[in-house]
Amino acid sequence: MNRRRLRFPQMAVRCSWCKALVGELCVNPSTGRAKRDETHDTRLRTWVIDTTTCTETGCEAAPGSPCTTNTGTALTTHVHPARDDAAHRAYAAQHTHDQQLSLPVGTSRLDDHHTR
Ligand SMILES: [Zn+2]
Ligand SMILES: [Zn+2]
Repeated sequence: MNRRRLRFPQMAVRCSWCKALVGELCVNPSTGRAKRDETHDTRLRTWVIDTTTCTETGCEAAPGSPCTTNTGTALTTHVHPARDDAAHRAYAAQHTHDQQLSLPVGTSRLDDHHTR
């Protein structure tokens, strides 16, 4: 089986928006076409939440828990930027053996260049 690196790190989780399975691209529900350049924001957020502890002072949400404000209200529409950042950094660190390019933090551009 050809083990291809996932195009987006968040493809390691299911998309709760379009129901794309693990390892599959998100689909645009109105056209039925795969989204090749991005995934739904929800999916990226799910991945960040599932894999990363928030580093924001006063939040420090554990993996699997949503971020909360300093009044204890869950953030339902986003995570703290620090957590987003931490997730991308961790992912890039895990894949330094696979790729030479440095993953720009905040974007998910992973092309299949083999630079080894
Ligand atoms: Zn999706
Ligand atoms: Zn947080």
